Amino acid sequence: MKYISLLGATGSIGMQTLDVIKEHSNEFTLVAFSVGRNIDSAREIINQFSPQLVSVQEKPDYEMLKLEFPHVAFTYGNDGLTEVAVFEKADILVNAVIGSVGLLPTLQAIEAKKTIAIANKETLVTAGHLVMDAVKKHGVALLPVDSEHSAIYQALQGEQTKNIERLILTASGGSFRDRTREELEHVTLKEALAHPNWAMGAKITIDSASMMNKGLEVIEAHWLFSIGYEQIDVLLHKESIIHSMVEFHDSSIIAQLGTPDMRVPIQYALTYPDRLPLGGAKRLNLAEIGKLHFKEMDLERFRCLKFAYEAGKIGGTMPTVLNAANEVAVAAFIEGQITFLQIEDLIEKALSAHQSISNPSLATIQEVDKETRQFVQTLV
Ligand code: MG
Repeated sequence: MKYISLLGATGSIGMQTLDVIKEHSNEFTLVAFSVGRNIDSAREIINQFSPQLVSVQEKPDYEMLKLEFPHVAFTYGNDGLTEVAVFEKADILVNAVIGSVGLLPTLQAIEAKKTIAIANKETLVTAGHLVMDAVKKHGVALLPVDSEHSAIYQALQGEQTKNIERLILTASGGSFRDRTREELEHVTLKEALAHPNWAMGAKITIDSASMMNKGLEVIEAHWLFSIGYEQIDVLLHKESIIHSMVEFHDSSIIAQLGTPDMRVPIQYALTYPDRLPLGGAKRLNLAEIGKLHFKEMDLERFRCLKFAYEAGKIGGTMPTVLNAANEVAVAAFIEGQITFLQIEDLIEKALSAHQSISNPSLATIQEVDKETRQFVQTLV
């Protein structure tokens, strides 16, 4: 039995993690989880999984739930996230919260020697050097949940980093892949939220439409696999069947394929290095699909991806600024305060206003993160 703590239980990845746990209840037990403000869902999860510790965002919700479920321990706020992350009984932390709020709990869980299944992109983007140093120091496993990184992780089983020629991250192109920049001027939130292949949360779906999602994934891949940015390519592949590839020096390419279903990489992270059946997973039928399509990535069309490469190469606090500016800009777009293309304008302004600090400490990262948020908020 593996005991699991889950941050962000009511998000898209969180709910699919619960599906996997439920399906393999002989293998996995949920012992702790966090939610934001979705208290109805928290109640359902408590009733269904009988966890020992639950964290919510707000104190009044905490007070209320404590009375309703006297046999469960409750906590709240950002400290609550960390309590769930380091919960004594848990072997594996699934970190599926959105945003750089996921960083601190990840670092604490690494120190507590938990296996980390990481779905929170911002952790590695904003503080990749600190996270990877801690992973080495404490000898824990950091398993990617994102489909692209899971694909690369799978392709690298039994391989050595020194033999890698390049990583090829595939990108579906998001909701606006067939539109020109001119056509992007007046796109709506509803259009941005209609992703053609993947069912995901709002933030990541907007990030997919702007291609920032792929930019964050490039930076994550750099840290997860210790690969230079010049060895990471992005390829447009609209069917999302090949989830990513690794090319080796001898010109061989190993790819991981499957129908787009996030439960597959989630389950792989939980069962690694083993595998289990997955009920309801649609098996890939290549004869039925017939054709797969690929296209070169245009960095002028998708400027957010260009910004991500630039910020990643500069390093230091630059990726922190990239991420924080993006979080504020996407939230402003979702609130209807700015247009879609203004997301990238705001990120560009934040990046050019910032002088990167190399090898930043956690305190410096948190300070830069806060300053960037204020700067972009003022522009909004
Ligand atoms: Mg992805």
